[in-house]
Amino acid sequence: MGSTLLEKPEMGWDEDETSNEVRVERPMTKTGKGTQKILRDTFRTQSIGLSNADFVVVGWMAAMHLGCLVAPFFFTWSALGVCLAFYWLTGTVGVTLGYHRYLAHRSFKLSRPAEFFVYMLGVLSMQGSPLMWAATHRVHHARSDKDGDPHSPRHGKWWSHMIWLLIDNHRSKDPVFVNKVCPDLVKDPMIQFFEKTFVWWTVAFGIAMLAIGGLPWLLWGLCVRVVITYHATWFVNSATHLWGYRTYETGDDSRNLWWVALVTGGEGWHNNHHAYPRVARAGHQWWEFDTTYGVILLLKSLGQAWDVNDKLPDATRKGTPKLAKS
Ligand SMILES: [Zn+2]
Ligand SMILES: [Zn+2]
Repeated sequence: MGSTLLEKPEMGWDEDETSNEVRVERPMTKTGKGTQKILRDTFRTQSIGLSNADFVVVGWMAAMHLGCLVAPFFFTWSALGVCLAFYWLTGTVGVTLGYHRYLAHRSFKLSRPAEFFVYMLGVLSMQGSPLMWAATHRVHHARSDKDGDPHSPRHGKWWSHMIWLLIDNHRSKDPVFVNKVCPDLVKDPMIQFFEKTFVWWTVAFGIAMLAIGGLPWLLWGLCVRVVITYHATWFVNSATHLWGYRTYETGDDSRNLWWVALVTGGEGWHNNHHAYPRVARAGHQWWEFDTTYGVILLLKSLGQAWDVNDKLPDATRKGTPKLAKS
């Protein structure tokens, strides 16, 4: 695997100035030894126990899953509608479009109002603060299925799906980590605003659910919605590094898996994404449906998004991922 694209971390990017047709992704930052060490050592696979569990996260996850068990006894059609609407809004628009393709990969640009909207939906997913999410994900691309990958199934299927999240990881909470991995994001005042307030949006959301629709809306609009969105996102970390087909030789275990694409607004085309992480569209074939890309195009048609990086680099070009042998 001779491609620098596949071996170096994706810390930030520039465009290939020699071409006006395609954007070839390559790291912008010449990562020094210090950053390499951070990428390698921040996340370590370990057995979970009383000494290293993050009890705030464990408690929150337990409460949300418990809410799901109770929710069927409080079923109403309006509660189901609220659940599905916010599952799509926070999962597809907040996480897939906002946290992932916009924040972590900078695949397009957004107007300030659109930015605010997608960050708001992102924080309502309760998948962590924007910077922590983006930084963790960038490490995943930099160290995919190697030591340092926050969530590789090579270290256990359940580890990759959710156990990694339940560890109290002091290294990832060190500001040096985010500053090194997301130097292009840390100074943005809007990101900092959501960084400081992200939990309170969910507190306000929960109060609003209870006030408007009572316990059914709280249980379905918050607990069930959040848990469905969690497992959908987590399947990207577990299932799409385990099962499915490979279109590109990416040097990791990433795969394309239709049912994960279905529940995550297109993220299941994960091998495509690992091959071209900065491209805004994850579906590379006409039948690889990608609703998030549709939303990006909708925002573009409304003048709220621009500079959408949606050209696939020529696979025959030097330095681009090779097609996988079938
Ligand atoms: Zn991956
Ligand atoms: Zn990514």
